[in-house]
Amino acid sequence: MNSNENKMGRREFLQVGATLGAAAGLGVAVAAQESKTFGRAVPVVISSANGLRATEKAMHLIRAGTDTLDAAIAGVNIVEEDPNDITVGYGGLPNERGVVELDACVMHGPTYRAGAVGALQNIKTPSKVAKTIMDHTNHILLVGQGALDFAKMYGFKEENLLTDKARELWVRWKENLSPNDDWIGEDQRGFSRPTGTITCLALNEKGDLSGCTSTSGLAFKIPGRVGDSPLIGDGLYVDNDVGACGSTGRGEAVILSSGSRIVVENMRHGMSPEEAILDVLKRICRYTSETRWLHSPGKPKFDVNFYAINKKGDYAAAAIYKGSKFSVHDGLRNTHKDSGYLFEKA
Ligand code: ASP
Repeated sequence: MNSNENKMGRREFLQVGATLGAAAGLGVAVAAQESKTFGRAVPVVISSANGLRATEKAMHLIRAGTDTLDAAIAGVNIVEEDPNDITVGYGGLPNERGVVELDACVMHGPTYRAGAVGALQNIKTPSKVAKTIMDHTNHILLVGQGALDFAKMYGFKEENLLTDKARELWVRWKENLSPNDDWIGEDQRGFSRPTGTITCLALNEKGDLSGCTSTSGLAFKIPGRVGDSPLIGDGLYVDNDVGACGSTGRGEAVILSSGSRIVVENMRHGMSPEEAILDVLKRICRYTSETRWLHSPGKPKFDVNFYAINKKGDYAAAAIYKGSKFSVHDGLRNTHKDSGYLFEKA
């Protein structure tokens, strides 16, 4: 450990600001474009903005010799168990009927295995259930009642995941859905639906990679809706020869683009993490065709974030719109950084 820490202490922290090619030929009008690759420090742990405690915890465990997947899951568990994060685990916002349904997946690079749960109710830590599916079955994804029965069989305790805070937000959303119903809301201006998820990617000094993504999904979703987060290749993908990627944001857009898988494939073919991410974000913008999802051609009304790391320890995060941050422990410091982006917000 000490020799690694000394090595890390000597490492320079590099920030490479790269301006990628112009929008010509991309089919989208890129108003602003900024990307950043950071690196290289090994071990390194990156996460979404809500994962600063996760990166701290995972780095601590990796330095103590813990496997990268166990480290990432332990980090994510902090946020899953935190009632104040209304986008993940306990305290997550419920579906349209007021029931919290959680999605999560894990992927272990060294053994190329994965586990996942979709629409899981009543269990605070879906990432641990996903790991148990990986360890104890020949399957990858269990959903709904089957996932809950499985979790109970392995000793997970059923709990009410709907906190008062989440319940009140759900009630406000319901009351303000329409000016033409019988609910008397505070106002009739509508209610924005908060988004969020945690993804956490870990690389150790041997070059082994793992990742975990966990979410309560789209707030007030149709019951049974499963987003990108539990889908291997969408909300998370890990290839121990290349790198790892996780996502947050509009899951349907990530699913349509096979986002995390394509980011990793882009890195396999030589792109830096930020180039790999921006390429997929541009595809998402280009392919979004339904006018209800567009501010203007090529400018979606939603956002998507990817977080990527390669085997060498280069890492980046980027979103469609400026303003996102991500968490990283680069071996020296645990901090938030600004994500790259395609566009300034209108
Ligand atoms: N990606 C998540 C989902 O679509 C939600 C989010 O990250 O905001 O379920």
